Amino acid sequence: MFVGVGASRVRDLFEQGRKNAPCIIFIDELDAVGRSRGAGYGGGHDEREQTLNQMLVEMDGFDTTEAVIIMAATNRPDVLDPALLRPGRFDRQVIIDLPDVAGREGILKIHARKVKLDVAAELSNIARGTPGFSGADLANLINEAALLTGRRNKLIISMSELEEAKDKVMMGPERRSMIISESEKKNTAFHEAGHALVSLLTPQADFLHKVSIIPRGRALGLTQSLPDDGSHTMSKNELEARLRVLMAGRVAEEIFIGDYSNGAANDIERATRIARAMVCEWGMSSLGPVAYGQKEEPIFIGKEIARHKDYSEEKARSIDDEVDKIILSAYADVKKLLTREKNRLKRLAEALLEKEVMNSHEIGTLLGIKIKEQEDLRKTASPFKSTVPAEESPAAPVTEKI
Ligand code: ZN
Repeated sequence: MFVGVGASRVRDLFEQGRKNAPCIIFIDELDAVGRSRGAGYGGGHDEREQTLNQMLVEMDGFDTTEAVIIMAATNRPDVLDPALLRPGRFDRQVIIDLPDVAGREGILKIHARKVKLDVAAELSNIARGTPGFSGADLANLINEAALLTGRRNKLIISMSELEEAKDKVMMGPERRSMIISESEKKNTAFHEAGHALVSLLTPQADFLHKVSIIPRGRALGLTQSLPDDGSHTMSKNELEARLRVLMAGRVAEEIFIGDYSNGAANDIERATRIARAMVCEWGMSSLGPVAYGQKEEPIFIGKEIARHKDYSEEKARSIDDEVDKIILSAYADVKKLLTREKNRLKRLAEALLEKEVMNSHEIGTLLGIKIKEQEDLRKTASPFKSTVPAEESPAAPVTEKI
């Protein structure tokens, strides 16, 4: 990085590169010097521009016979100065996606080499529960687990520290000291019990992992599930199952508390996004397999995906109707299910109030639901997978906030 080093250091760097050819010059965090000129970001503006200009000059100075390759990395390709990306400069872009489940397990293994890990620790399980995590997040997770192990005066990191570290990285630290009123706690318990129970009773829902009503970050409680296999494809049935699980928190509150809290905002937002994609992108409504609202594909990641409306006002109304229909039908199904399962729901909420955290097996035992059955049911019930683009996949981290 060149920040605070200036144009002369750039000259030196490229000079050295020429002397040591063949070689690769690698610049990390390119956006630190490579932001669009004249955009007026913060201080040190002039110096940064000079550094950038020097870099452009140096890159133009290379000819193809010089065996020097210049590579750079950035998380913000969208803010780079266009001059950097012209032919002969950084003219090839390789987009590195967030790691998939196998990638996450591999990354965890690499970072786990530096620490002492319990032989029983299942990194594959942690990998499944961390969709959307970057390599840096996963490194942080192992680091947090090591710190936690030290604080507990233990020498070997076990699954419990890994789990705790995962939650901390994902949701922020536990806030056991946060003062919550009894009624808020009760509300949270019923809300999360709703998510958990519907998830267990819906064959095609993601596997339930655990439920907690300990406040964490900004959330009062959470229900975590482990998405199937990290694949970015989901069938209509699976999406509908996910909608039902999302609706379940609100429905449980409604049945038992007789009132709504604003805690379901995140659930509602996510459900609406899924339903809209089902109608507009994945052809999963009565409007048929037509895409509405063409996306203008961004050249680089990081830029907002712009959509332009390519349908009539009349069609817009039909789309809205279809989205409503999908959500309201999931809502009605869940209401029927949870009304029928009122006793189990109450038992689970009461157990949560007492224990605060329960995993799927504890819940299964309490309610007499065999977890294994859910797995088997799921396998047989999902003979195909539809294609859902990775970026838009609703298979994002399944962490319910209340
Ligand atoms: Zn919720």
